[in-house]
Amino acid sequence: MRLLIIGAPGAGKGTQASAIASHYGVLAISTGDIFRANIKGGTELGKKVKAIMDAGDLVPDEVTDEIVVDRLGQPDAVGGFLLDGYPRNLHQVSALDTYLSGKGESLDAVISLEVDPELLTARLLKRAEIEGRSDDNEETIRNRMSVYSSQTEPLIDHYRQAGLLVPVDGVGEISEVHDRIVAALDARA
Ligand code: AMP
Repeated sequence: MRLLIIGAPGAGKGTQASAIASHYGVLAISTGDIFRANIKGGTELGKKVKAIMDAGDLVPDEVTDEIVVDRLGQPDAVGGFLLDGYPRNLHQVSALDTYLSGKGESLDAVISLEVDPELLTARLLKRAEIEGRSDDNEETIRNRMSVYSSQTEPLIDHYRQAGLLVPVDGVGEISEVHDRIVAALDARA
């Protein structure tokens, strides 16, 4: 299975992505996690992206696209994948399409995790207390929300028109949301 999960910051993408990926036995790839690991490890890439992430802006497409293509080309991605946090704009959508179609592959489904915008900021501020992510402060959150609405939200229509969109209500217990995603994906298969 080749899957994407899309949702606003705070919608619970990361939490759901790992459980869904293990449910279907595919590799979960989170671009945000890759960047955070590089920042933590003090790599060149980490140094390049730290200020961008702290501001809540998008890392340049050429950097992000290359990382994803490289990761998808590794042997553990052969059995399928769930991409969390990528693509995030229409340029990345076409970079991914070009890569997959070059291998004769395509996406199976795009999970759209839907959460009332008013709940999102509260969730993020709570996460800030628990995980201490440096981009979970009020100013950065505001920018991440606006980047999401202007750049990422249009992907939902794009994938709906492509017949790939699987909208799922993202409000509730983690396990409830998980079961909804599995039910919705299984209903398609
Ligand atoms: P996330 O963990 O998905 O919320 O991502 C955290 C941050 O990493 C984002 O606010 C961006 O700065 C950066 N990032 C993650 N994925 C992407 C992407 N596909 N394109 C550009 N920047 C990204």
